[in-house]
Amino acid sequence: MTSSQTTNGREVRLVARPQGMPVTSDFEVAEVEGRAPGEGEVLVRNLFLSVDPYMRGRMNDVKSYVPPFELGKVMDGGAVGEVAASTVASHAVGDLVLHGLGWRELAVGPAKAFKVLDRGDFSPSYYLGVLGMPGLTAYAGLFDVAGFTDGETVFVSGAAGAVGSLVGQLAKARGGRVVGSAGSAEKVAWLTEELGFDSAFDYKTGPVAKQLRAAAPDGIDVYFDNVGGEHLEAAIGSLKVHGRAAICGMISAYNSAEPPPAPRNLAQVIGKRLKLQGFLVSDHGHLQGEFVREVGPMLADGRLKAQETVADGIDGAVEAFLALMSGGNTGKMVVRVG
Ligand code: NAP
Repeated sequence: MTSSQTTNGREVRLVARPQGMPVTSDFEVAEVEGRAPGEGEVLVRNLFLSVDPYMRGRMNDVKSYVPPFELGKVMDGGAVGEVAASTVASHAVGDLVLHGLGWRELAVGPAKAFKVLDRGDFSPSYYLGVLGMPGLTAYAGLFDVAGFTDGETVFVSGAAGAVGSLVGQLAKARGGRVVGSAGSAEKVAWLTEELGFDSAFDYKTGPVAKQLRAAAPDGIDVYFDNVGGEHLEAAIGSLKVHGRAAICGMISAYNSAEPPPAPRNLAQVIGKRLKLQGFLVSDHGHLQGEFVREVGPMLADGRLKAQETVADGIDGAVEAFLALMSGGNTGKMVVRVG
């Protein structure tokens, strides 16, 4: 074994199932006695933890496409780190790795659970955002699910977030006309002035349907849904005949105890022959290669902007998650550890 590290570290656990919006007492940060890696294992010191909306669903004790977090156990999820000790030739001390063992300072496990990454000329956190799961979600949803073609008009909600900001930029890069919605005047200005969106509006300042009609008076070809509810209803109303919607997320309902009151206009899918398709990024792994080939050069030459909101230290992970639920991030939310 090659090694140079202690094995103790802290981790974040879910200790109570939130009712509605989570509160800090639903979580605890605990000191954990670690261990050296056994045969075939590696010890990893995390650099960045991913903070993602889907984690809210995992806090509920319900059957879903991912199992719920266990009470009293670490919150697993995306993270990048450096190999600190290794018993296998494939993983050298200092290698950058991606894994799913989540919100902890140190992770130990079988080498195959840690994917060795290229050290590019960018922050390792990009593997949790623009070059990782949210990036592939944007790419797969826009092109594979919604079938966006060059020059179409796209509406994306949650537009200033990790997925939404990439959807808009990818559509712009292919000659699309892009409308975005977000939850503050600062985010709206960022979308139009920095990211090149054709139009954007603050959904908190008036009815979404009215603002969308004003931004896209001729209607939209594609809707990329990150929010659900009133946004989805507005998009159904603005979609043209044969329009398509990629249903990616419904964050407006994640902390709500009641079923969403909208959309109330679902019958329009018939007359307008709309296609609304839900999707999971995990079904689109086959696109990873072409996604990196398209997005990598755009990132390198500045055509694509990868904004991040970075919280510091594992103690900040819970606050970062709560901020994500209430719009406290622009671009990808990550926690820098150590
Ligand atoms: P994100 O957009 O970076 O962060 C969440 C954002 O949601 C917040 O910044 C906030 O921005 C907005 N928000 C929170 N509550 C809202 C509400 N009630 N109404 C409208 N907006 C609200 O997160 P992300 O990682 O990019 O994920 C975006 C969506 O994609 C989420 O719904 C997520 O669950 C989904 N997703 C799905 C897949 C999949 O495989 N299907 C994969 C990844 C993500 P504002 O300031 O604009 O309110």
